[in-house]
Amino acid sequence: MTRPLADKVAMLRGAFVAQVTDRLADAERLLRLLDGGLADDRPVSELKRLLHNLKGSSGTFGLADLQAAAQAAEEQLARLLPGRVAGDGRLAGEMAAPLAAMERLVASLSNDPKPTSFQVSAGPAMGMGPAKDRAGRGKRVYLCDDDPVLAEQLQQQIACFGYEVLVFESPAALREALPAGLPDALIMDAVFAEGVDAGFELVEELRRAGLSVPTLFISCRDDFEARLQAVQAGGLAYFAKPVRALDLVERLDELTSDVQPEPYRVLVVDDEPEVAAYHALILEAAGMLVQAVTEPVRVLQVLRDFRADLVLMDLYMPNCSGRDLAQVIRQIPDFVSLPIVYLSIETDEGKQSSALRLGADGFLSKPIEPDQLVSTVCLRAERMRVLRSLMVRDSLTGLLNHTATAQFLDNTVATARRRNSSVCFAMIDIDHFKQVNDTYGHPVGDQVLCALASVLRQQLRGSDVVGRYGGEEFAVVLSDVSLDQAMRILEELRVYFGDLLFLADDREFSVTFSCGVAAFPAYDRPETLCRAADSALYEAKSAGRNRILAAR
Ligand code: GH3
Ligand code: MG
Ligand code: MG
Repeated sequence: MTRPLADKVAMLRGAFVAQVTDRLADAERLLRLLDGGLADDRPVSELKRLLHNLKGSSGTFGLADLQAAAQAAEEQLARLLPGRVAGDGRLAGEMAAPLAAMERLVASLSNDPKPTSFQVSAGPAMGMGPAKDRAGRGKRVYLCDDDPVLAEQLQQQIACFGYEVLVFESPAALREALPAGLPDALIMDAVFAEGVDAGFELVEELRRAGLSVPTLFISCRDDFEARLQAVQAGGLAYFAKPVRALDLVERLDELTSDVQPEPYRVLVVDDEPEVAAYHALILEAAGMLVQAVTEPVRVLQVLRDFRADLVLMDLYMPNCSGRDLAQVIRQIPDFVSLPIVYLSIETDEGKQSSALRLGADGFLSKPIEPDQLVSTVCLRAERMRVLRSLMVRDSLTGLLNHTATAQFLDNTVATARRRNSSVCFAMIDIDHFKQVNDTYGHPVGDQVLCALASVLRQQLRGSDVVGRYGGEEFAVVLSDVSLDQAMRILEELRVYFGDLLFLADDREFSVTFSCGVAAFPAYDRPETLCRAADSALYEAKSAGRNRILAAR
């Protein structure tokens, strides 16, 4: 744990300990109320909750003795309540000892703040980022494969995407090159003359030496044993041959991307401010963005503004339990699939599963190890991100689908109108694509579509958005550029894509596209922008294809 984090945790623990005396005084007041013969049961539930919270928070801050004392008090109260005779004045007396025990512990803690220690590793908390950066640019990839023909083909195709690819024909040759410097990624065959595991062994060896390089395995082996070995050697991906260069490029883009993926966003709901702050600290230390809320009534408002990937929620809160709050959240269509994880001292499995039935996705018991908290939250937040991306992304290319692209254009135009800025909208359609399918088959056509998607994603700026508009039609939204600038950018893309060589059945071929562009504010509504870009595209086709025309 880093020093500043340790300090902050110590401060929160101190703030919690400082309040315990007041809370014990509250407990005594409630006991006297009960002894006074009050008819309604409110003080009973308040008292129960008070002790329950003390137990939970003590645990969270690693104060085991105080936690045990609170539990003893809770149990004592549970024994006394059923036989309680209103007005007999016995409750305060019987509870005096356990409360005094807590009081003594608090006094000793205030003098001697006991540190809780924990480890938080930054890193796993990052979500998948969109691969919109110029990933391949200048990145160095080592490719180790003893099949020179395959190696050369892959080298050429991967190089098309901006990677510098160096080929090594044997593990020995690779070993020799490594001391001079590590590549950004390694593509490694498994089977060599040295042995059927030689590739795995080399990577394992690197890892043990602390020289880890993001590694993709490619192999003619497709057995479980080989895949397992790849994982155990630290491989991040496994492709059984024949491999598609594009698949490799896609993984390389992810593995070598310099762009920090967007951190997960977590909403923490807990009525105890120190506990909420403590969990927020742990998650923040792991790189997440956290918002803490202590009043359930504020949750819906905060959710609307904060775009949470996950809600971490206390189960016991006054007025509105976690269970109720989860159901309220689920009433809103936007939040139907938002993951909700309870964090509670509830250890009763029956109660846990009834809470889960009512709309929550997970249950964590307090106190929880920071690493476990981080990994559980990461896992579920990541799943949420994947789910969300599936809903708006085209399954073949990973680009935004038609609806999401149109939605994005709407938003971008609205923003541009407010800010008085410009937006260009381009429609791209592959030329004679039917012929590609007819000549080389549908799967090869699919590869061409993926290649274009990949080129668009890589070559455009992070702020530009690419969507798959229809079968072989793509749309690009470019913000803050003039029509002329957009034309220049797209022209570069056109030339670049037209130069790519595709390979099918040992035949090489290339493909071109036509494109129509329209600009806001010249066309000042999303619908007119689309229509104008579409007409320009049509004109580009009629004028001979493989060109870009602007709607003016
Ligand atoms: P043009 O230059 O006029 O655009 O000619 P074209 O052949 O590209 O245009 P056309 O609209 O006649 O044909 C589009 C073809 O795209 C027909 C369809 O089978 C193919 N297509 C659409 N979606 C997919 C897909 O997901 N995968 C593959 N492989 N082909 C697709
Ligand atoms: Mg076409
Ligand atoms: Mg078409």
